[in-house]
Amino acid sequence: MSDFNVQQEINKRRTFAIISHPDAGKTTITEKLILLGKLIQVAGTVKGKKNDRAATSDWMSLEKERGISVTSSVMQFPYNDRIVNLLDTPGHEDFSEDTYRTLTAVDSALMVIDGAKGVEDRTIKLMNVCRLRDTPILSFVNKMDRDIRDPIELLDEIEEVLGIAAAPINWPIGMGRDFKGVYNLYTDTIHVFKPGKGSVIAEDIRIEGLESDEAKALLDDEYADFCDEIELVRGASHQFELEQYLAGQLSPVFFGTALSNFGVREMLDGFVEWAPAPLNRDTDVRTVDAREESFSGFIFKIQANMDPKHRDRIAFMRVCSGTYRKGMKMRHVRLGKDVKIADAVSFLAGDRELVEEAVSGDIIGLHNHGTIQIGDTFTEGEEVKFTGIPHFAPELFRRIRLRDPLKSKQLQKGLQQLSEEGSTQVFMPERNSDLIVGAVGVLQFDVVAYRLKDEYKVEAIYEPINVYTARWVDSDDDKAFAEFKRKCADNLAIDGGGHLCYLAPTRVNLSLTEERHPKVNFHATREH
Ligand code: GDP
Repeated sequence: MSDFNVQQEINKRRTFAIISHPDAGKTTITEKLILLGKLIQVAGTVKGKKNDRAATSDWMSLEKERGISVTSSVMQFPYNDRIVNLLDTPGHEDFSEDTYRTLTAVDSALMVIDGAKGVEDRTIKLMNVCRLRDTPILSFVNKMDRDIRDPIELLDEIEEVLGIAAAPINWPIGMGRDFKGVYNLYTDTIHVFKPGKGSVIAEDIRIEGLESDEAKALLDDEYADFCDEIELVRGASHQFELEQYLAGQLSPVFFGTALSNFGVREMLDGFVEWAPAPLNRDTDVRTVDAREESFSGFIFKIQANMDPKHRDRIAFMRVCSGTYRKGMKMRHVRLGKDVKIADAVSFLAGDRELVEEAVSGDIIGLHNHGTIQIGDTFTEGEEVKFTGIPHFAPELFRRIRLRDPLKSKQLQKGLQQLSEEGSTQVFMPERNSDLIVGAVGVLQFDVVAYRLKDEYKVEAIYEPINVYTARWVDSDDDKAFAEFKRKCADNLAIDGGGHLCYLAPTRVNLSLTEERHPKVNFHATREH
């Protein structure tokens, strides 16, 4: 690629994630998006593919049993003249940490709302995460083929609950059995509802002009009412403003039904047009321009055993600038080492393929043999570190013990790797040989035990332990820090990344300790 083309390629990228509450239709809409990308002809294979994999990779059957998506994946597909990178966010709230990090790797988000249910709590949480970075949000109100709530009420709810202005782009004509289509408020076009089934996307039947005879025929008895409604909507709702959308202050809203393949195309057309191309990103030293020539990227996720034949782990990298070229040398900044990468993979429609070139906005997978950690930065030699990819202090703790004490080496290794992946956090107290596992959600413990057994052949049991929370500690004052370490030695532990933590048995203990050691900093999150 000449440099001119690289710029063009970057401008084509649209890298995003879907935020929604479980069951709102994220999986269904993902299938239809990929179908629109024409990469797979039969929608319905997204879940199917996951299940195929689960058949070969055992621990994923846990995910199947629970009906949740523990892992997240990446899908790339072309649409119009754009290249769309869709990052899947795990659906279960136990994995909010993983989701959070995924949201650090995107430039915008698509919010899918179940029209019958409105804004649900998981959506609120994810939205709050997006707001931290002013991520632009486009909304899709799903399930118009059912009796949903009053669309005006839904817009009010989006505005009130999520604190973001909502600008309807199209407006539904009826709902449920009487759903007739959507009317685009900006182009004065009706898209007539024709359910597409499975892999079929219904042809786009349009009626130009609400004033037209065809529109009147379609709406029939409801014509006058609908015209009144549109007048009301135009008067009472926000106008779409691109600037405000890009600033994360206003969300364009589309109505449709993912299951019937309707309205998704209109939404995707708007999305690829308006959503931001790769954005600039901050490092500890400077802001990296997404369009600069020199390559850089960071790791936001590590996933184990995607390909059971290789039992490898894949580190997911968001490319932040420049171009990855097969066989190139990159600096692994944390280790201060140059590595030659010839076998990075891309995720065309969810399948892994060797990638020759990738630009800003793309996600590539690096084979990880234990050297790569979440948050690691790779560059073409520059000593910078991307910021804003935190670890959260776990809220639940258990002591982990082996049934067979001879296997402690495997246990250590397993826990170390699972913590590098971000699946759990481990803490090793300074005063004893306990191993403490920390989690943000209780389900994580089950997953860890399952994977230890499945992948590392160790049977571990959990025991309750009196830890309320963990705080990463540091200080600029060496003397005060030494004093703190001496006095609090019983509560100190090293985490999986080698960082010192204070394990507080109670909330009261934590605040007392903070008071007694004012020169020590207690951090609830740790930047990778
Ligand atoms: P996820 O949990 O957000 O991934 O949701 P899914 O895509 O798995 O959808 C949850 C359920 O809602 C499934 O039974 C879907 O078939 C159904 N569903 C998704 N979209 C629609 C829609 O537009 N209309 C109707 N009636 N059902 C839908």
